[in-house]
Amino acid sequence: MDMNAYQQAALRTAAPKDKQNEVFHLLLGLVGETGEIAEKAKKIVRDRDSDFAQWDREDLAKELGDTLWYVAVLADHFELPLDDIAELNIKKLADRQARGAIGGRGDNR
Ligand SMILES: [Mg+2]
Repeated sequence: MDMNAYQQAALRTAAPKDKQNEVFHLLLGLVGETGEIAEKAKKIVRDRDSDFAQWDREDLAKELGDTLWYVAVLADHFELPLDDIAELNIKKLADRQARGAIGGRGDNR
């Protein structure tokens, strides 16, 4: 699925942009969904000797999808097309790789 098409589809189930506190809702939702992924990963570490091959892939896909929904809607809130975000991110990482700066510190390395 095209990323901008996904973003537009996600918006069909989003609250209106001008709803009071909508940015807070989206930010907290994004953190909450990533937290759900972290919580499930923690249980694999705790209960399954960190064997991530045992991670329920269908459940992981659902949680990643929930996270993607919040990313898409939050991006739209600031009029950022998802395609543009993806392209910018890949360019940034390719540039870092070309300069041998994938590892290390700092957002703008
Ligand atoms: Mg979820």
